[in-house]
Amino acid sequence: MTDHTENIGAKAQIDFNCLEDNCDGIIRFSLADIADSDFQTVCKKCYHTYELDGVLREKLLKMLKLITTLREIEDILGDCNISISVANGEVKIPYALLLTRLNTMISLKIGDRSVDFHLRVEPGAEETFR
Ligand SMILES: [Zn+2]
Repeated sequence: MTDHTENIGAKAQIDFNCLEDNCDGIIRFSLADIADSDFQTVCKKCYHTYELDGVLREKLLKMLKLITTLREIEDILGDCNISISVANGEVKIPYALLLTRLNTMISLKIGDRSVDFHLRVEPGAEETFR
């Protein structure tokens, strides 16, 4: 429980499907890890190494910032809703759901391929701090 940002980064997990043909491996890493400019990750099934370039890392770090910010305002999120207009009115989605129930996905390019990165954030440790 040291630095708040670090803490959240460690809890934010990213995964994507291995891009190698005939490999169904899933590559997982922590969002905090990519702050390291030497970051690379390996598919545990085919051992293909992935280096994420600066642009890609920057985008993922922005996602980390978003997640961090959401966590920081968690206490007021309970009062916030996202309102979506539908054919017969409005649907309200509690903002907090975005943190806990919905998985964030960001599609980025690796080479000329579009890759879906799934972000998962562990639930906050609010109970721990009573
Ligand atoms: Zn693989």
